[in-house]
Amino acid sequence: MNLNENAIKVLEKRYLAKDENGKLLENPEGMFKRVARAVASADKESVSAEELKDIEQEFYDMMANLDFLPNSPTLMNAGRPLGQLSACFVLPIEDTMEGIFETIKNAALIHKSGGGTGFSFSRLRPKGASVNSTGGVASGPVSFMKVFNAATEAVKQGGTRRGANMGILRVDHPDIMDFITCKKNNADITNFNISVGITEEFMNAVEKNEDYNLVEPNTGNIVGKHNAKEMFDLIVDMAWNNGEPGIIFLDRLNRDNVTPEIGQIESTNPCGEQPLLPYEACNLGSINLSNMLKDIGGKTEVDFDKLRNTVRKAVHFLDNVIDVNKYPLPEIDEMTRGTRKIGLGVMGWADMLCKLNIPYNSQISIDLAEKIMYFIQDESKKASIELAERKGVFPYYDKSIYKDLGVKVRNATTTTIAPTGTLSIIAGVSSGIEPLFAISYIRNVMDNDELIEVNPVFKQIANTEGFYSDELMRRIAKRGTIKGFGEIPENIQNVFVTSHDISPDWHVRMQAAFQKYTDNAVSKTVNLKNEATHKDVSDAFWLAYKTNCKGVTIYRDGSRDLQVLNIGKVK
Ligand code: ADP
Repeated sequence: MNLNENAIKVLEKRYLAKDENGKLLENPEGMFKRVARAVASADKESVSAEELKDIEQEFYDMMANLDFLPNSPTLMNAGRPLGQLSACFVLPIEDTMEGIFETIKNAALIHKSGGGTGFSFSRLRPKGASVNSTGGVASGPVSFMKVFNAATEAVKQGGTRRGANMGILRVDHPDIMDFITCKKNNADITNFNISVGITEEFMNAVEKNEDYNLVEPNTGNIVGKHNAKEMFDLIVDMAWNNGEPGIIFLDRLNRDNVTPEIGQIESTNPCGEQPLLPYEACNLGSINLSNMLKDIGGKTEVDFDKLRNTVRKAVHFLDNVIDVNKYPLPEIDEMTRGTRKIGLGVMGWADMLCKLNIPYNSQISIDLAEKIMYFIQDESKKASIELAERKGVFPYYDKSIYKDLGVKVRNATTTTIAPTGTLSIIAGVSSGIEPLFAISYIRNVMDNDELIEVNPVFKQIANTEGFYSDELMRRIAKRGTIKGFGEIPENIQNVFVTSHDISPDWHVRMQAAFQKYTDNAVSKTVNLKNEATHKDVSDAFWLAYKTNCKGVTIYRDGSRDLQVLNIGKVK
């Protein structure tokens, strides 16, 4: 198996089964076998023993070759007692003490199993509203969000990974200003990503520089007004400050809600790529685009046959996960099996572009992004239709838009672009649809030793072209870009661009290109240079709005004290 050192480290630390003394009970091969067997077993009743073995082998090969990986909880828990396989959940929060604390308990159970939770706090009465039963006053959504945050912190220790949450508040909630500024300090509410739920009405008011209404959630009464442009500028200011909050376009999420009769979409999962109904869960999986290439007479091309094949198998895999999954709550079981949503996406996009000799920040790459995602979307629907013929449509089909369209699918949604934070480390490729973060960087290892990590695609080309040296890689790590290095051919400088070489509008345009053919949403961070201005942030927000993105998250380099990776910061 072609796993690099970091991948093995990550797998050993968190994914491989261990006994009570921490001794490993399996190796990576064993993990993929365990997962393949558990997921294939969903077909037990419907195929012969021989066919079942073939399916298991197909699933195993696809993972072991790193062509496709399911989200982390599936790798960790499939075929093991916990059996919770989904990465994404959305839980409702009712405006009662019982309701709020019931949701905190449920979120804790989900975190323990490696899942992430998203919530809308929009139903909670605003700060200062009266509490009938006690005659006291309510403390408002932000104060309860802090309780959720503390609970997450406590569960962190015992779970498979640190819990992650998304908190959303509608822009017309009376406490919206408190919410927008609640993470101003980097040390506050650290277990949450927050996003303002933006409405079309609000965006129209911003454009016209008008006031918009603040609405009491329980009564629907208008309890105040605010200038929309000022509120928008406050969001921009806070995002510029440290990346929080992001924004999501709520009306767009609901425009694409395929089961509106079942419920409204009010939140996404923690990283924003998966809008869900209350009590709905979704399992994700990502195709490694860097492996979807072929060589024809010395020329590298996209291997659409392999991609088609991988999409078909991946849809089958993810659909099976729904059946073998053990859900943490009966409500989640009911909803998730009812809509059978899956989220197939991609990783290794930037690596693929480098291998194809295409700069990320170019019209050619935007066109290719659309072509590839159109293909994946189309093939995933065909696969879902075939599954429906064999196994039936999803149970809530009669309440979905597909019924009116007369299209019999097995899954209410099929595509989502996840961040692939850990999956991309396991596969050893660039994450999701993000550009390369660095060409080379210095990793501090034990005993203060410094290790130079070089992007493998770049290393190979540098060796072939004869300009590789450790000394050059060290200088590149210091500068954080290969722009302007005389020893590197110009076309290579243009192709191996990093996040910060790319202007914000290319980041947004790439997100929009993938969103165009994705059912759910796209996880993407619009990375800005430290010197970026408020106007740059505002422009990114507007471009995302105008190009039909479902939300946008920006991050200005260095704007949080703690950053996982630092580029250009070596002594
Ligand atoms: P991975 O690469 O581990 O499969 P991603 O980075 O693609 O995960 O994230 C996908 C989703 O998984 C997130 O949006 C979130 O719902 C969930 N998730 C990610 N990290 C965590 C975490 N530390 N705790 C809980 N859930 C998480």
